[in-house]
Amino acid sequence: MGSIILIAPPAAGKGTQANMLCETYQIPHISTGDLLREAALVEDERGKIIREQLLAGQLVSDTITLELLEERLTQTDCNNGYILDGFPRNIEQAIAYEKILEKLNKKLGIVIYLDVEKELACKRIEGRVICALCSSVYNTIIKEAKSKKDGICDTCGNELVKRTDDNIETFMKRYDTYVERTQPLIDYYEQKKVLYRVQSTAKEETFREIVSILEGQKEL
Ligand code: AMP
Repeated sequence: MGSIILIAPPAAGKGTQANMLCETYQIPHISTGDLLREAALVEDERGKIIREQLLAGQLVSDTITLELLEERLTQTDCNNGYILDGFPRNIEQAIAYEKILEKLNKKLGIVIYLDVEKELACKRIEGRVICALCSSVYNTIIKEAKSKKDGICDTCGNELVKRTDDNIETFMKRYDTYVERTQPLIDYYEQKKVLYRVQSTAKEETFREIVSILEGQKEL
């Protein structure tokens, strides 16, 4: 299997779909948001810069993001494909990514564009909680996305936490950043004929649609 890139506005359910895909296809889920949040915990200059940019709802610099991603892609679990969640976020990253792929002798794979209405995304942000250990995503407002036990992850039993950037103010900024910087990628990948559009509705239905696209690929 090649790689799968998931592009979507904030709170479109990228993380949830990525987790389901990696379980089904047994390939790693690489979220640049997770890589950055992890690096933000380190008490060094880089960690400080990342923390500030995350809280401001801005994109973290391409240099830092690409450095963390390249490091991750060289790990052997990426040899049979992977799911990229949250990357690339702009055209510059897409171009730099192709250079990394060439260096690592990997193919581009396919791009799934997960679309969602802004109002629904906003509602998802308000109630979203994630597992601090396995990154599974739940929602305290949306009934079908609640964890079985309040505050506890169904998958690994760890504590559920609210992301510091999951508030309406940061969401609005992240959404604007998405429209300005990330949306142009849709045309970019459409021209390369690797883009597939999926409407993010109910979790299972969206997943079935993605799987049917993947099953239709020659190289799976
Ligand atoms: P996410 O977990 O994908 O919602 O990303 C959370 C935050 O991490 C974003 O608002 C950005 O600040 C940062 N981030 C994630 N991926 C990238 C990326 N590819 N380039 C720059 N910043 C990123």
